[in-house]
Amino acid sequence: MNKFTHVNATSVDDAVATLAQGKAAAIAGGTDLITVLKGMVSPTAPEKLVNLKTISGLDYIKEESGMLKIGALTTLTAIAKSSIVNSKYTVLAQAAKAVGSPELRNTGTIGGNICQKSRCIYFRNEHNAFNCLRKNPQGMCYAIAGTNTKHSIFGAAAGCVDVCPSDTAPALVALGASIVTSKRTIAAADFFEVKAADEGINVLDTDEIVTEIQVPEPASGTKSAYVKFAFRKSIDFPLVSCAAVISGSDASIVLGGVYNLPRRATAAEDSIKGKTIDDASATAAGDAATNGSAALGMNKYKIQITKAMTKRAILACK
Ligand SMILES: Cc1cc2nc3c(=O)[nH]c(=O)nc-3n(C[C@H](O)[C@H](O)[C@H](O)COP(=O)(O)OP(=O)(O)OC[C@H]3O[C@@H](n4cnc5c(N)ncnc54)[C@H](O)[C@@H]3O)c2cc1C
Repeated sequence: MNKFTHVNATSVDDAVATLAQGKAAAIAGGTDLITVLKGMVSPTAPEKLVNLKTISGLDYIKEESGMLKIGALTTLTAIAKSSIVNSKYTVLAQAAKAVGSPELRNTGTIGGNICQKSRCIYFRNEHNAFNCLRKNPQGMCYAIAGTNTKHSIFGAAAGCVDVCPSDTAPALVALGASIVTSKRTIAAADFFEVKAADEGINVLDTDEIVTEIQVPEPASGTKSAYVKFAFRKSIDFPLVSCAAVISGSDASIVLGGVYNLPRRATAAEDSIKGKTIDDASATAAGDAATNGSAALGMNKYKIQITKAMTKRAILACK
């Protein structure tokens, strides 16, 4: 690992000021960032890590003004165990509980979860072994013609066929959440973005940090669920996941692990809206979820899994 200094931020402004000096990265739980640094995955390494955990007042779960508010430093365990989140925002509690392992959830934060980097085997290859286009404008996407078992089944964004690895991201998009940062409030649906020569999967500037997640209170009677398929039952990223939020004639269905960004399954939403949820309607919506899919050489199997995960998430909202 390259050498770095560790700076304890005293406030959001202090963290942002240090990040603005350049060659610096924010660190929260460190469960993702440290693996990136140890693997020397990136062509450049930060000279300074700005420790966000020393900022007080960013670790909370509360309801205020008809909205759930979660501080960016709140651990995934706290979210998974919260009675408020479990009762009204079930999909988010289930998504937080689906992350990795108890140790990762005890340390990993919600802010870090939505800001984590790509898990693509070419991107993550140690010592920056592949000239990946997410790291270099002259690079290429090696997964398109290479090993793409876990990659996108909905084509490429900015030439890259990676998938969004975050479990909580689809849940937040399905709930219509907003991400509050040190400089603005962004709809979760607009927060995730992929660009060439940009290692992140979000729209944050280099001197911007997430401070809070806001989720509008779902209408009374809303049911929601998160289901995840991975090769292993724990300590594994989603190959396919589905977040469903269904209330009366409204449905929000968002897929994870199948595209660079959380992917709204609008055809599945249209298919289930206003219908009684049963095996037939859930199967039809599951089938619709893969409309427009285009599997790569090694990941056609994900299409059937996407249909099944969507069906299961909908049935769980019965
Ligand atoms: C073995 C293993 C299995 C895993 N399994 C899963 C899984 O199943 N599902 C899943 O979703 N994740 C998984 N993860 C990834 C990771 O553990 C989680 O995403 C965790 O929530 C990251 O949070 P953190 O606080 O540790 O982030 P950190 O490692 O501290 O940071 C991650 C990234 O986010 C940035 N960052 C952190 N906080 C902020 C903030 N407030 N504002 C702006 N940027 C910020 C950092 O600069 C860094 O780039 C796994 C990781 C490992 C090592």
